[in-house]
Amino acid sequence: MSKQIWFLTGSQGLYGEDVLLQVRDQSAQISGALAAAESIPVEVVARPTLTDAGAIRRVMLDANADDDCIGVIAWMHTFSPAKMWIAGMDALTKPFLHLHTQVNVELPWASIDMDFMNLNQAAHGDREFAYIATRLGVPRKTVAGHVSDPRVVARIAVWARAALARAEVSTLKLVRFGDNMRNVAVTEGDKVEAERRFGVSVNTWGVNDLVDVVDNQVSEGEVDALISEYMDLYDVAPELHPGADRHESLRYGARIEAALRTFVVEGGFGAFTTNFEDLGGLRQLPGLGVQRLEGEGIGFAGEGDWKTAVLGRTLMTMAQGLPGGTSFMEDYTYHLEPGRELSLGAHMLEVSPSIALGTPRIEIHPLGIGNREDPVRMVFDAMPGDGVTVGMCDLGDRFRLVGNELTVVPPLADMPKLPVARAVWQAKPDFTTSTECWLSAGGPHHTVLSTALTTEHLTDLAEMIGIELAMIGEGTRTGQFLKELRWNNAYHRLAMGF
Ligand code: MN
Repeated sequence: MSKQIWFLTGSQGLYGEDVLLQVRDQSAQISGALAAAESIPVEVVARPTLTDAGAIRRVMLDANADDDCIGVIAWMHTFSPAKMWIAGMDALTKPFLHLHTQVNVELPWASIDMDFMNLNQAAHGDREFAYIATRLGVPRKTVAGHVSDPRVVARIAVWARAALARAEVSTLKLVRFGDNMRNVAVTEGDKVEAERRFGVSVNTWGVNDLVDVVDNQVSEGEVDALISEYMDLYDVAPELHPGADRHESLRYGARIEAALRTFVVEGGFGAFTTNFEDLGGLRQLPGLGVQRLEGEGIGFAGEGDWKTAVLGRTLMTMAQGLPGGTSFMEDYTYHLEPGRELSLGAHMLEVSPSIALGTPRIEIHPLGIGNREDPVRMVFDAMPGDGVTVGMCDLGDRFRLVGNELTVVPPLADMPKLPVARAVWQAKPDFTTSTECWLSAGGPHHTVLSTALTTEHLTDLAEMIGIELAMIGEGTRTGQFLKELRWNNAYHRLAMGF
């Protein structure tokens, strides 16, 4: 069953049957336009016109109870006295969008009369409705404009994607192979609170549970199939080819990939973490296999960083089908030429090929840490384009998302000796503002980088989950941002209640 957004139309009984029939037909035009929009990745389902408090409350309870319903859009076609909406809006727990629109684009200047006025009065009907939504403190996105305007549909589509992501994280299961990297602070966090706030269930398995699958549950046939897939899809280093010196290392990498996929699929997990300090009987740090699973939409982060892995799966779900890619990332090092500052992001191995420019190479190189055999990995540069990075930190009393708009750019020169996948980007609005704001917000070094998503996606997601988003972008000024952080501290502590 595909996911749905319910389209609710508000009116009242005062106008008589004829008007309500017109309301029904005109509402079908609006919801039909949204249902037909290819950019909205879910079904839009029109519900019967709502004219009394009991029906409104009932439809909201039904929306809450229906696992396929990921959100609700409401539009007040006519005047729908909003005390009727109190019980229903109070009960609603699904993401909510208020669409402020009307059927006609142009006023019928020559023929307009009081019948037309009484039928097409969303201009004040939606104000009455929005008042009660505001008074009740209902989290929502408000979108105003005609549905024939692509900008209106695009903003609804962004919200629909955020609702999909919220639905995903609310039932997400994450497996951690081992605990956090020793002594690291920002990768820690409150897993109980995460389950309460996001719904995600985060649990640890011993890494040797994975080793058992690697060693005993992957057939040579599965390994052969992966090897031929690698040979077809990627530019495999000659020393790793079948029959070549180091082919066994590639076979072992394939074995890890097959085992990870089995473990993740059979356990119903959407995300996982590893820790190079806790590899048990694994002979290589998982690299290639992690990259391949990330490319399939499985969230990942290294060093036990479950928060970033949760974010990875959530953002990959939100980005599904959009151009661009989404990957685990780490701010690594800088090019600090004044006026042309750049960030070089990478990780030990585990960057998703969804952000790759061209065909990734599969290579083998030593890894300075982890004390294991040389791991196989994909190596590539990232595809240029606009995007965002976002990270999550646990401030002790709540989670905070910190995001930064950026442009991935081509490297200034080749990096032939760098044996990992990497992205080079220009942070917005500029290096100094971006980094000073990020550091002031306590943003983590692990992030998810996406060239498929925008600030609007992150904003909508944060609103529906009820989590702080400190976003750094084109218009950010450091002084103002620091004040926002202070205000946010006060607001979010109050909003959480006692
Ligand atoms: Mn790291």
